[in-house]
Amino acid sequence: MPPRRRKPEPVPPPPPGLDALTGIAAPRRRALAAAGLRTLHDLVAFLPRAHLDRSVFTPISALSEGEHTVRARVLTVRVPRFRRRVPFAEAVLDDGTGQVRALWFGRHDVKTRLVPGVELLVSGQVGDDGGARPGLRFRNPDFEILDAEFEGLATGGIIAVYPAVRGAGPMTLRRAIRQALDLGGAKAREHLPATVLRRHPEWPRGPAAYPAIHRPASPPDLEAARSRWIYDEFFVYELGMALRRHAVRRRSADAAIAVSPDVERRIRARLPFPLTRAQDRAFREIRADLASGAPMNRLLQGDVGSGKTAVAFTALLAAVAAGGQGVLLAPTETLAEQHFRTLTGWLAGSRTSTVLLTGSARAAARRDVLAALGSGSAHLAVGTHALLEPDVAFRDLRLAVVDEQHRFGVRQRAAIGAKGRATHILVMTATPIPRTLALTAFGDLDVSTLDELPPGRTPVATRALDATDLSEAWEQVAAQVAAGRQAYVVHPLVDPSDRVAARSAVEMHAHLAGVFPGLSVGLLHGRLPAAEKAEAMESFRAGRTHILVSTVVIEVGVDVPNATVMIVANAERFGLAQLHQLRGRIGRSSHPSSCWLAVGGEASREALRRLRILEETQDGFRIAEADLALRGPGEFLGTRQSGAPAFHLADLVRDRETLLEARSAAFALVEADPPLRRHARLREVVLSRLGERLGLGSVL
Ligand code: ADP
Ligand code: MG
Repeated sequence: MPPRRRKPEPVPPPPPGLDALTGIAAPRRRALAAAGLRTLHDLVAFLPRAHLDRSVFTPISALSEGEHTVRARVLTVRVPRFRRRVPFAEAVLDDGTGQVRALWFGRHDVKTRLVPGVELLVSGQVGDDGGARPGLRFRNPDFEILDAEFEGLATGGIIAVYPAVRGAGPMTLRRAIRQALDLGGAKAREHLPATVLRRHPEWPRGPAAYPAIHRPASPPDLEAARSRWIYDEFFVYELGMALRRHAVRRRSADAAIAVSPDVERRIRARLPFPLTRAQDRAFREIRADLASGAPMNRLLQGDVGSGKTAVAFTALLAAVAAGGQGVLLAPTETLAEQHFRTLTGWLAGSRTSTVLLTGSARAAARRDVLAALGSGSAHLAVGTHALLEPDVAFRDLRLAVVDEQHRFGVRQRAAIGAKGRATHILVMTATPIPRTLALTAFGDLDVSTLDELPPGRTPVATRALDATDLSEAWEQVAAQVAAGRQAYVVHPLVDPSDRVAARSAVEMHAHLAGVFPGLSVGLLHGRLPAAEKAEAMESFRAGRTHILVSTVVIEVGVDVPNATVMIVANAERFGLAQLHQLRGRIGRSSHPSSCWLAVGGEASREALRRLRILEETQDGFRIAEADLALRGPGEFLGTRQSGAPAFHLADLVRDRETLLEARSAAFALVEADPPLRRHARLREVVLSRLGERLGLGSVL
């Protein structure tokens, strides 16, 4: 047979759901579809994130710096010769009261569409940027030509601003959503329950609800629409949470783990210390969950160093004592190894067998671990994401503990739980989560809080200072090392690949070896091979290394109580909560500790002010609240993945009252009508907004 000619790759047709749209090219439709906007209803339900009031025109003679809309004619258009390669155009506009220049960069359509004499609405930022010719001008404004085709998409009214969609610009989005509304997408049936709507007579509802937020007629209408949709975003999200929680509660078959007083005594006796009051309370809450007959779904939150590991240990042993298995999941290999060491240490001489599984395990070792877990000869597993692999199977997994929960997603929590029949789940976080955020990101969990540190801790004396004068900090390092203690030097540069930070850590390491010739200086960063990382950590833990230069790989959970000094370079680049985490690596013994936050570069004055709060308090909750207010929830919780909800209009800090109201209404509704059988429309909306993200498919 002759070789067949390869056909060119067919370009996929745009999805049929958007066939009815006109004036939107196929690539843009595909971009919309890729962003999840596949039907007219998807478009209509894509809420704006903000609005611009462009309903009021400013006479050109009255322009000032700021956002303005003018209605004017084009007097002249100029495309400077030297700018041909970078599209650039400048027009002079005249509205009878005066003239103003408008400049556009990077827009190919401007010079063909703007001809002298056409009448326009122009909206955007007016300013005087100095430049060759001083004077006020529009820079890259939106504009629309006032002809028969005028759509009012970007000017001339209250204009919706949408979250960015890759490959489809703001005008495409506005045009698509406008058409979707006109084509009947707006006739969407009301999904909010009547009980909720009755409490808010001012809200737009039914067919009026979507147009009210996409193209509000007046500022008061916009206010009412915003109020409804902010509530709506929270309400639907919290319904998802309530449904998950309900589903977990229901699956109650043989979940019960009773902890007899004798078992409890033996578990406690394994620990080298008595539990603190807070740990004890958490243990009792967990004990009650385990015994209840429904799978536990609990968040254990406690400040860094509050002793969450010991609480996890008690729960894990309860599962083992009941004849089952337990797993402890950690986000990094360093932390998994540390947990493994801690647990095996506490279990020395017992019959409980513990295995470690991380991504760097050799094939043969991995096989052995899998066999031991499958047969039940291993009772406890400690490890990283490697434990989530589909071929990791347990004989009878009863409890999964997920440490540093914010590094894992909702789905991963579900994945580990699915390895047992009715797995109890305990997630732990050292990032104290402000209440509003906990309600949303972890809204389906019960919460235990360790609000107390083990005895004998001294607060970490913290100083934020200019990086140019660190002599006092280095003196402290030298003095502490001379007294037998150890020090961390951390380079917390923001770099997902850890490359830049690794380089500065390497440089610092070389530098310090010169400055402290008599001392042993270690190096730890994410780009080292696993064995070298483990060796660096082990050497520091054993006290052979005096100073450990590292990137933020040490942030999570590392526990070396003999370390009492920390210098954080470029502290300005991080959030308060994260710095608080870092600082939590020291102050872990009765020796006084000190933390130096070095601030470099331009932003130093501002950063120093921001870091004051770390000097003033060790209270993780206060710090977390401050951080949330400063940085917003996305940043705060790390990646999207973590389950941090992405709301368009709602703001967790500003709208927290609304959140609380929506949450209690949502939970009450699910209580009264568990799978939302009597609220079919609402159920559809919950599934389409959250089904995938929260794994609700199996719940509803
Ligand atoms: P975190 O909550 O940050 O995970 P860890 O579990 O790492 O904290 O515990 C911090 C340190 O406190 C460890 O060295 C641990 O052994 C110690 N610790 C925990 N609980 C107690 C306790 N009840 N009494 C004394 N030390 C404790
Ligand atoms: Mg920990």
